[in-house]
Amino acid sequence: MTTNDTLAKARIAVLGYGSQGRAHALNLRDSGLDVVVGLRKGGPSWERAHAEGFRVAEPAEAVRDADLIAVLTPDMVQPSLYRDAIEPNIKAGAALLFAHGFNVHFKQIQPRNDIDVVLVAPKGPGALVRREYEIGRGVPCLFAVYQDTSGHAEAKAKAYADGIGGGRAMLIETDFKEETETDLFGEQAVLCGGASELVIKGFETLVEAGYKPEIAYYEVMHELKLIVDLFYEGGLKRMLEFVSETAQYGDYVSGPRVVDESTKQRMKAVLTDIQDGTFARNWIAEYQAGLPNYKRLKQADLDHPIEQVGAKLRARMPWLNAGQAAPAAAPL
Ligand code: NAD
Ligand code: MG
Ligand code: MG
Ligand code: MG
Ligand code: MG
Repeated sequence: MTTNDTLAKARIAVLGYGSQGRAHALNLRDSGLDVVVGLRKGGPSWERAHAEGFRVAEPAEAVRDADLIAVLTPDMVQPSLYRDAIEPNIKAGAALLFAHGFNVHFKQIQPRNDIDVVLVAPKGPGALVRREYEIGRGVPCLFAVYQDTSGHAEAKAKAYADGIGGGRAMLIETDFKEETETDLFGEQAVLCGGASELVIKGFETLVEAGYKPEIAYYEVMHELKLIVDLFYEGGLKRMLEFVSETAQYGDYVSGPRVVDESTKQRMKAVLTDIQDGTFARNWIAEYQAGLPNYKRLKQADLDHPIEQVGAKLRARMPWLNAGQAAPAAAPL
């Protein structure tokens, strides 16, 4: 049996139809697999999943006759979803699949010991997982086995990763700890947190020095895409090939003045908070308190002057958002 046949006769329940859930459900179905979507009746995604041709059921019902359950709801919702809908209904020998190891690694979910528990984590947002699949490509995926009771846990994870298109790019074996800690670090220090602060501080520096906000926006936010695309296609080498000699020299002498050894020390402190559970504890407490700081900090980002000027400038370039199947700004 090839890995691709492992799930050929399986019923897959995808719980959640957001960034990852929708992309996985559509890709798995297009790969010829049997998918049911599990959602709360009347929830925000029910109509969309139904309109896109899926059988949609309440989570408990979707879990009941599934051979593989993909848990693709927000991380903070997963522990109660596991307790209420999955634990009482999942078949012995079925597989429970996560796209991020957070709840298992930080022991918010302690899975029943008669099921397989695996991870398939695409290294990209759901919109990209879908878009790449549709054009015959794929997003690289990490996979891991936490618990193997059937003897086929790894084959199931790989077959699922193939089904969403990950095998067309690359599958990398990991464990729940490594995926969880590296994913949290990446999104906090470099991708979401680091990149947005770098852009905001650059914008503020120019505007406070008296330069036009429109020019500051194009310089530090709009043009970042060009640089990131070059990284993505060919690393530092390709970026350096495409920018001027003047830009290269400025990169070499000024980059390390902005992001220096002390930044790296603070990155290490962020990593330590992730590794020792401080971040997870704080985030769970924040969620349970009704997200007061999360909401305040999010609003501050949305109210920042770079957002006001950005919205005005992007409205002049409607093609920037053309052809997107889902919001480009999907959560990581
Ligand atoms: P999301 O917020 O985009 O979507 C959540 C979905 O779950 C929505 O359809 C929502 O209606 C549904 N939902 C919420 N509460 C529910 C409940 N109680 N019962 C049933 N359905 C419920 O979520 P996401 O960003 O796709 O994240 C899903 C998982 O994928 C998380 O574990 C996340 O860490 C992981 N992940 C996300 C990304 C990404 O790019 N967004 C990348 C890699 C991994
Ligand atoms: Mg990630
Ligand atoms: Mg930020
Ligand atoms: Mg320039
Ligand atoms: Mg993440």
